[in-house]
Amino acid sequence: MSFAADMHMSPDTRFEPVVGLEVHAELQTRSKMFCACPVVDPTSADPNTAVCEVCTGMPGTLPVINERAVEFALRAALALNSQVAPTSVFARKNYFYPDLPKGFQISQYEMPLATGGWLEIEAPQGSKRVAVRRVHLEEDTGKLFHQAGSSLVDFNRAGVPLLEVVSEPELFSIEEVKAYATALRTLLRYIGITSGDMEKGAIRFEANISLRPAGSQSLGIRTEIKNLNSFRSMLRALAYEIDRHRALLASGGAVAQETLRWNESRGETYPERGKEEANDYRYFPEPDLPPLAIDPAWVERIRSSLPELPWARRNRFVTRIGLSADAAGILTAERAIADFFEAVLSAAPEASPEKVAHWVTGEVFSLLHQAGTSLVDFNRAGVPLLEVVSEPELFSIEEVKAYATALRTLLRYIGITSGDMEKGAIRFEANISLRPAGSQSLGIRTEIKNLNSFRSMLRALAYEIDRHRALLASGGAVAQETLRWNESRGETYPERGKEEANDYRYFPEPDLPPLAIDPAWVERIRSSLPELPWARRNRFVTRIGLSADAAGILTAERAIADFFEAVLSAAPEASPEKVAHWVTGEVFSLLHQAGIEIQASRLSPGALAQIISLSEDGRLTLASAKEVLAEVFRTGEAPLALVEQRGLSQVSDREMIEGLVREVLDAHPSQVDQYLAGKRPILEWLFGQVMRSASGRANPAVVRAVLTDRLRASEENRTPR
Ligand SMILES: [Zn+2]
Repeated sequence: MSFAADMHMSPDTRFEPVVGLEVHAELQTRSKMFCACPVVDPTSADPNTAVCEVCTGMPGTLPVINERAVEFALRAALALNSQVAPTSVFARKNYFYPDLPKGFQISQYEMPLATGGWLEIEAPQGSKRVAVRRVHLEEDTGKLFHQAGSSLVDFNRAGVPLLEVVSEPELFSIEEVKAYATALRTLLRYIGITSGDMEKGAIRFEANISLRPAGSQSLGIRTEIKNLNSFRSMLRALAYEIDRHRALLASGGAVAQETLRWNESRGETYPERGKEEANDYRYFPEPDLPPLAIDPAWVERIRSSLPELPWARRNRFVTRIGLSADAAGILTAERAIADFFEAVLSAAPEASPEKVAHWVTGEVFSLLHQAGTSLVDFNRAGVPLLEVVSEPELFSIEEVKAYATALRTLLRYIGITSGDMEKGAIRFEANISLRPAGSQSLGIRTEIKNLNSFRSMLRALAYEIDRHRALLASGGAVAQETLRWNESRGETYPERGKEEANDYRYFPEPDLPPLAIDPAWVERIRSSLPELPWARRNRFVTRIGLSADAAGILTAERAIADFFEAVLSAAPEASPEKVAHWVTGEVFSLLHQAGIEIQASRLSPGALAQIISLSEDGRLTLASAKEVLAEVFRTGEAPLALVEQRGLSQVSDREMIEGLVREVLDAHPSQVDQYLAGKRPILEWLFGQVMRSASGRANPAVVRAVLTDRLRASEENRTPR
């Protein structure tokens, strides 16, 4: 019997594994880490549709830090008991790979966002605190698709905010690694910063592992394993490496310190070749980003907004509610399940908690499983739903889109729905038929169900139009049927198995009286409606004098239209076009960068009005006005105080500017001579010198006037000579 075979029959306990884990979690922000591109679902978005100059690394572009991503990372740091650094620094990690358009990744290196901390886990020997080394922010890379000898790259993921949590090497078995990774995923989902969706690659791992003689305190030589994209890969790769190290050490050999990759189909690790030289990442501080200073008051606000964390909740379920540790662990693994359990408990105060736990983890879990491999969440069941059915009067995809958009805007204006498409607050069903152009009769129609986004609806309709058209053009007939939409295949398919069920056997609900509406109530509601989007858009054009485009953009969201009108009335002397320009330009771009809505920003209409006025009456240059706006947006400070503090006010004082012009002309006599000799373009150079000596704060119009006057005077003085 060989030693290796023997080893598998009874595990060799002479060596103890020591594992440290790096966990990367994609943050669920609306926009990317350093640009305004949306974060999209990698499994359904078309490749390279959520990209811009910044995240594809075009020269001359500048990154801007996404405040929401920082907030999410701070939530994680606080939930992990880490110390938040008052100032941290982004760094460039330089390497070449086709999924990295810039040739470097913006990460954090010497000064991470947070250090230290711990995560409590349920290990086989009981509960244990695993020390956290650091928590930092970085950007994700693009994604490569290899097919038949060529590789395609999708940059939708490039620049998506990524949280990295690095543990100390304190995990001493595969079971502990699994418990740690599971507890961390649960925690990050509890605080609402990542979907944790393993199938979509939202959480990925890198592991380092070494073996040491059992009982030893020193560390053996370690290997690092990259590209572990699922729990299963990670645990398999670690088990493989433990066996490999153990066999090497047991036979008196040595482990080579190296970086490995995991081949999932062969079930083996292999050295990461070709990247060896590249592994000196030549980190240096990112020159295009300022150090990230974190306001301690902000940290405290975030700390106090954290929900009860899974470990604390689990303990409360044991000590206060009296559940077993097992039941408490199962019920708190998902926040939605724990919420459901507590809601049942308070609705049935007379029932024993054990009994309720038993029903939930028994019957309810089993029903959830039967209903599909995915979990059913009944939180949505019974939520009031409004259904609006149009007549079949939409004659193109563009009309469908305009109708759906206008209806969503209207329902949001009157404050009855969030309209949040990502959360499924608006969903569609469509019926469609084709008829010969010019005909008044209707063709045979199909109905499409489960259209849960604008994009799905428009794609499904485009698909059906093509399908009907091909059928009719070839002399075939459309079957009248109900279809469903398969988003990933981009096809409709007949709703099978539900055919019989489609006779819904409607009858009046016997448990509810007919709903009688008091006409006086209707009138009260009618008179309480706000100005509706269409009317407001028209008023913006006819009364305020905006273009139809600008009016459309400004009235698409009620909060934006309100903000615009508030700025307008706070700055009555400013032209409406100019105010519209500031709002749809600078303000929109700041909102995108911060990934927030106008209601959540610190910018008040009064402050923007003041900034516009300062710029209009020449007290601020345009560049300074934009600088002040960005700062006010960030801090909520008063514009005038900022202008004062930073010495930004524009110099229009003629006497002072005359002094500057005189100094520049005296300092550059030969350029003045060239100008007087007829080399007129020198004027621009001299103008630039004066502006520079005024640090860009002089009023350009006054400078130009004074400079021209002075030069003309010199010219006249010289002519008689
Ligand atoms: Zn971008």
